[in-house]
Amino acid sequence: MDDRTHAPFLAANPVLVRCLSGAVRQDWTRAEIEALFDLPFPDLIFHAQRIHREHFDPREVQISTLLSIKTGGCPEDCAYCPQSARYDTGVTAHKLMDVAAVVDEARAAKAAGASRFCMGAAWRSPKDRDLDQVCAMVAGVRALGLETCATLGMLTAPQAARLKSAGLDYYNHNLDTSPEFYGEIVSTRTYQERLDTLNHVRTAGIHVCCGGIVGMGEGRHDRIGMIATLAGLPGHPESVPINLLVRVEGTPLAAAETFDPLEFVRTIAVAFRRPRGHE
Ligand code: SF4
Repeated sequence: MDDRTHAPFLAANPVLVRCLSGAVRQDWTRAEIEALFDLPFPDLIFHAQRIHREHFDPREVQISTLLSIKTGGCPEDCAYCPQSARYDTGVTAHKLMDVAAVVDEARAAKAAGASRFCMGAAWRSPKDRDLDQVCAMVAGVRALGLETCATLGMLTAPQAARLKSAGLDYYNHNLDTSPEFYGEIVSTRTYQERLDTLNHVRTAGIHVCCGGIVGMGEGRHDRIGMIATLAGLPGHPESVPINLLVRVEGTPLAAAETFDPLEFVRTIAVAFRRPRGHE
């Protein structure tokens, strides 16, 4: 970085100089991440862009298409989710789709420009007989020349290994929020169970897609805590989706306060500047 990239207050702050170096590391502290959040908005956007461009083609956009292969009727109680059977949201439950129908959808997604196809099922965790069918979907989608992704809930180590053998490239399993705020959002599975699934996925050799949701009533310290947890994972996720809550009538978060759009951009920029994240 030359002098033009450094406002004087940055150059005088060794914490910020370290944070903005672009080095890939897993020992991020919450104080460091907070220092990034506290940057003047233009400085944060500038440095997020600068570091991103050091690692990626800035004009390249990777397109993923997500298909719900099994919709609704989920036993979990995630407070943001219209697919939970606990909330009256008007979502009609559908059983697991046929393999051929999923592959047809993937073919259409590829024709529309997608390079990755994600299959999502509203389960607490897949049953082994369901996994047979999902593995056939993964193999069929991969045979089209698409990257494959799935989000099926919690996995055991053997289930992750089976998905890897079928050709699964990515597994999505979000942390949702900070460890401290998590209990306000989900009570039917623990934060540690999420981390365990991520560990099984990584150990199986599948790329990790893991992020969270903002605008659920959490504080900035929770957004910091979530990013610190993501940054401290044994391997950084290859994809980091930062989602803004979609308030759905019937869910406990239907009346959540509108989230500041600039804080949303800030959160993405702080998460984005970790070089291994693609999204
Ligand atoms: S586990 Fe997934 S599908 Fe089920 S309620 Fe939570 S977010 Fe929704």
